[in-house]
Amino acid sequence: MMSGTILETMKTVLEKLNNEIIACRKCPRLVAWREEVAHVKRKAYRDHEYWGKPVPGFGDPKARVLVVGLAPGAHGSNRTGRQFTGDASGDFLYPALYKAGFANQPRAESRSDGLILKDMYITASGRCAPPDNKPSTGELNNCQPYLERELVLIEPKVIVCLGRIAFDRILRIYSVRNSKYKFAHGASYRLEMGRWILCSYHPSQQNTSTKKLTVEMFDAIWAQARELADRK
Ligand code: SF4
Repeated sequence: MMSGTILETMKTVLEKLNNEIIACRKCPRLVAWREEVAHVKRKAYRDHEYWGKPVPGFGDPKARVLVVGLAPGAHGSNRTGRQFTGDASGDFLYPALYKAGFANQPRAESRSDGLILKDMYITASGRCAPPDNKPSTGELNNCQPYLERELVLIEPKVIVCLGRIAFDRILRIYSVRNSKYKFAHGASYRLEMGRWILCSYHPSQQNTSTKKLTVEMFDAIWAQARELADRK
């Protein structure tokens, strides 16, 4: 059990890290893109004030489960400023997390919608919206130290990788070069330090509309994440 003082210190360090992330301008192509999208806007959101900055992680600082996505959607997180909030991916993700007991509500619309994560922290491989949803390897490398610092601070027991890019990033962070570690939906691997990696297809609109990822398949991932977190 974490003491109140340690938890407060952790919250302060995480907040400092998040402020650093929000101010980051390391990738010129992504800085230009995220700001242009925020300026031009999608017609449906023309009255919205877009975030247009890097999107930090959020959730429970003492989470046992850490979720790693790809990167913000241009008119989702890049508009709202919170992971998976305001687009079709979030509309698929949060009802599943709510059902599994990791979120207090199924709805995610804005940073002030009352959503609270329990025993879960959500972050991403890249923090800035990329053109065509494709960050370059160099851009992901630039962003990797932020993810590394989150992992050191939160020390999750289970890392859920949403998509192959997140999985490859986590293997890279932990210097795993073993060929038995292969991305497959539902595959789980135990790292040497006792931490688990769990793979899931990304809840992108393309995956969910084609039924590559169904509600049932996604529900099973969150049940598995909880089972791995509870495992002695
Ligand atoms: S992608 Fe990451 S490293 Fe690149 S500008 Fe955004 S926050 Fe900075």
